[in-house]
Amino acid sequence: MAKEKKSALKEKKGVSISEITNQSTIKTIKEKRRAAINTDALVASILKKDITALSRAITLVESKNPTHLKKANAIIKACLPHANKSVRIGITGVPGVGKSTFIETFGKHITSKGKRIAVLAIDPSSSLTKGSILGDKTRMEDLVKNNNAFIRPSASGDSLGGVARKTREAIILCEAAGFDVIIIETVGVGQSETTVHSMVDFFLLLKLAGAGDELQGIKRGIIEMADAIAINKADGDNLKRAKLAKIEFNRALHLYPEKSSNWQPKVTVCSAIKNEGIDTIWELILDYIAMTSKNNYFHEKRNEQNKFWLIQTIEEQLKIDFFNRSKIKKELKNQLLLIETNQTTPFAAADYLLGLG
Ligand code: GDP
Repeated sequence: MAKEKKSALKEKKGVSISEITNQSTIKTIKEKRRAAINTDALVASILKKDITALSRAITLVESKNPTHLKKANAIIKACLPHANKSVRIGITGVPGVGKSTFIETFGKHITSKGKRIAVLAIDPSSSLTKGSILGDKTRMEDLVKNNNAFIRPSASGDSLGGVARKTREAIILCEAAGFDVIIIETVGVGQSETTVHSMVDFFLLLKLAGAGDELQGIKRGIIEMADAIAINKADGDNLKRAKLAKIEFNRALHLYPEKSSNWQPKVTVCSAIKNEGIDTIWELILDYIAMTSKNNYFHEKRNEQNKFWLIQTIEEQLKIDFFNRSKIKKELKNQLLLIETNQTTPFAAADYLLGLG
């Protein structure tokens, strides 16, 4: 009797097994239909500024499941005509410079002006350490509670390219959800700053006064990429040093070649913790947008970025497809053995593998 109870196929009185099978087929069809409708419903909700729908769509973008990715692509395609209307700001600086404190204060300032802000992050270290530099601590506690703010931790991934693609797509979704300002935050690991620079309109470098660039881990190219440098923690005993650093930086920046935007990068001081100088930075960004919109650089840069991302995506996909081919997997091992035993060179081996077709 107990055994009978456990059976899933136990026939109910008056219901045959074939009927049950038919019912389950109908259920599957209904589920499939519901899943298809869900994509449309998700897009409709995103356009209505529904944060839960936005989060779900970003989760689909970040998924490794091919069915999810298919859905994600459909959602992005539908959102694309509604994207492109925000200001994208990249923020970088060494750990401890005050990025999350700054974004929290900056976010509060912007939302007080009636704007909506989304904060995304690129943290390639999450794939290396299986933990994330940016995500481990409780960050932006007040901004998280703000209805006009959306904060999403960095996507994880095996490569910076993978994380970057997901972030690019998350930008589109956030824009479709009506966010006016999108912040992409990064820590300077590897090439992450260059990657962020290639997807934003304005690049802000946060610095500390009194510590040399080497100490702050600032790479040379970063200064060149910056549209503004904000010397943070300009408060208390540090204020004087921050002001001196501002003069020095201003002098140094004039030695760099003029930017194609015609924009002269600005140096400013701020205290994220005391909310001082934050309004100046927002004004400065608005000036930049006004100027580059007028000289068309804003538009040209976005076009250039799209071109860059198209080529980047093709290269990435070609690479993945190539290395996933079973013939290549097998032959790569053989060629590596031949290289090890000095029977071929890496260049000849590459030539051979690429020619395998
Ligand atoms: P992140 O690692 O760059 O995100 O830096 P955090 O925002 O976590 O800040 C690191 C530390 O610096 C924290 O203890 C903050 O309270 C402190 N901090 C951030 N901004 C300021 C500031 O403007 N002035 C002062 N005095 N401390 C700050």
